[in-house]
Amino acid sequence: MQRLRVTLTGAVQGVGFRPFLYRLAMEMHLGGWVLNSSSGLTVEVEGEPAVLDEFLARLHREKPVVAVILTSETSRLSPVGFDRFEIRSSDEAEEKTVAVLPDLATCGDCLRELSDSSDRRYQYPFTNCTHCGPRYSIIENVPYDRPRTTMKIFRLCRDCRREYEDPSNRRFHAQPNACPVCGPRLSMTIADAARVLLDGRILALKGIGGFQLLVDARNEEAVVRLRQLKAREEKPFALMMPSLDVAERFCIISPAERALLESAAAPIVLLTPNGEPGIAPSVARSSPYVGVMLPYSPMHHLLMREAGVPLVATSGNRSDEPIATDNDEARSRLDGIADAFLMHDRPIARPCDDSVVRLARGREMVLRRARGYAPMPVRVGRALDPVLAVGAHLKNAVAIAVSHQVFVSQHVGDLDTLEARQSFERAIQDLCRLYRFEPRVVACDMHPDYASTQWARASGLPVVEIQHHEAHAASCAAENDVRGDYLAVSWDGTGYGRDATIWGGEFFQVRNGVFERVAHLRTFRLPGGEAAVKEGWRSAASLLWEIDGAAALATTPAIARMLERGLNAPVTSSVGRLFDAVAAFSGVARESHFEGQAAMLLERAIGSLDTRDAYPLRGGDWAELVDAVRRDAQAGVAPGLISARFHNALVRWMVETAVDSGLAQVVLSGGCFQNRYLVDRAVEALETRGLTVFTHQRVPPNDGGIALGQAVLASSAAG
Ligand SMILES: [Zn+2]
Ligand SMILES: [Zn+2]
Ligand SMILES: [Zn+2]
Repeated sequence: MQRLRVTLTGAVQGVGFRPFLYRLAMEMHLGGWVLNSSSGLTVEVEGEPAVLDEFLARLHREKPVVAVILTSETSRLSPVGFDRFEIRSSDEAEEKTVAVLPDLATCGDCLRELSDSSDRRYQYPFTNCTHCGPRYSIIENVPYDRPRTTMKIFRLCRDCRREYEDPSNRRFHAQPNACPVCGPRLSMTIADAARVLLDGRILALKGIGGFQLLVDARNEEAVVRLRQLKAREEKPFALMMPSLDVAERFCIISPAERALLESAAAPIVLLTPNGEPGIAPSVARSSPYVGVMLPYSPMHHLLMREAGVPLVATSGNRSDEPIATDNDEARSRLDGIADAFLMHDRPIARPCDDSVVRLARGREMVLRRARGYAPMPVRVGRALDPVLAVGAHLKNAVAIAVSHQVFVSQHVGDLDTLEARQSFERAIQDLCRLYRFEPRVVACDMHPDYASTQWARASGLPVVEIQHHEAHAASCAAENDVRGDYLAVSWDGTGYGRDATIWGGEFFQVRNGVFERVAHLRTFRLPGGEAAVKEGWRSAASLLWEIDGAAALATTPAIARMLERGLNAPVTSSVGRLFDAVAAFSGVARESHFEGQAAMLLERAIGSLDTRDAYPLRGGDWAELVDAVRRDAQAGVAPGLISARFHNALVRWMVETAVDSGLAQVVLSGGCFQNRYLVDRAVEALETRGLTVFTHQRVPPNDGGIALGQAVLASSAAG
């Protein structure tokens, strides 16, 4: 006889692991115990060595589907003579490094109960079990137990209590367990809410991680009104479809995309529309894709069944503010936008937007990381110092490094408003409290004006400033566990460079963890500074000024004079701004209403066009390219062809630089690599040269990516 002890870390709590082990031990007639600890889960069983091997194998093979085991340690000890198997109560003593689980989409069993008129949870909008339901959005502290969640205000009724205490029940220790008798309630009926939508009015719905604004996606007038009231002119809206079948009526959906739509994370998936009419044109005018999600909570399922039509589902906020989570807060902040409020009395512990993903080369690429993903840790190859990383200014997220794991917060948003900065501070306090984490170092961006940088400097802790594009590269390398030296391509809109100019078209050779900037886009000036980010034609005017001063003076005299004097015209090497300029020259877009719109329109213009043709861009010098783009546009060449030649030029420059470096691994990082055409062509071309290429996957280039990269680099700097 032996005693087997297994200690698991990862997402192993609140997923039905203990009842699973209980059933397994019963079935195999093994005595012992299981315990949720603050570092994960520990189980002990006694038996013959061969039986214990079988137990261990089945533990890994048959574990609950939503569980994620990060580490598993086993030891064999002498037996102590267990006479039964028991579930012991949580111990709170140890260090808190257990992964808090993300919110999970409603499982099949709960869905069946929802539509079974004989079930006591028939049409109950807060139905959940250990395989599904809210987690991160209700947890106030760990270990994950009901008194430490926002469900503590609801007393379990007798029936729910029985389920909760029965190890053979699907709801054993399901912390958000609830029923119509004892659980949360809605403020209005689902039928009334659906009527609001079908009448063309705007519904504010309190979902899992915050409020959403919903409107009938077929109703152009209603969609336009939502845009006006929300002060969101052009940025694409996401859709919630009643079912996969309806989604397939409007979009091309591959099996991998279907799996993403139906996953427990249930994110917004960027899909290619198939041209079928029926969706209001104002939903997504700029993007080549349309963001689609399926109902992910019982409330959404019931509402979508009742309404039966595609809905616009956007964050419950005004423009770029954080998402509203509290009932009173929503009533005041969404006053004048929403015509009706579908609310409930289950408090939301922290805001968590819908996540956005798309498929890249057959794999998931997360573009906004929030509900369903946060706060799952990223495992890194070496032990890190206790670093708090506070991220960038736009699309902020924060992270903490705990040994081999980096816990990345949900997407916080742009730090321009007071609300956003408060949300940012809460995200920091939140991560530190959940993991009883005390940072020894704060990592921030080098940009002196970022709200996050200013917070870091005022924190009183030692500060390590990380260059923005190095953080992009390090995050992509870290999540892919890249070992050895590599070439980093780090391209985006803007970031503060080591020489105090604006970078954004950078190549680094990274040897032994040391970054050397080996190439960059030929620099040019941004007339009007920040104004050039929105008004891409300014970048175009600046490039024209460089290659043909007389022409620039004739077409944009004010800009030409500004450049002549060099006033308010910072120097940049940004590829993002080159995208803006090409969009302006080719007639695709003169300006952007949201970050990256011109680049998005340029990518969309290519459509299904297939060409290898490329403009010259030798050594990153755009002079010949700009001249050729201008001539083509004047000659009436289709914008799609100009765009393809431009994208291909960037790819050739990447290949050229990669081959010159002699390095075998290439990391593609930064916001520019959200562009599918660019990523696909670059990977194909680099792999053809025998290079190994890494792209962003589970951590987005922005928000979480910057925080992850900062954490990794600050740790090496401090160590
Ligand atoms: Zn369930
Ligand atoms: Zn109940
Ligand atoms: Zn960036």
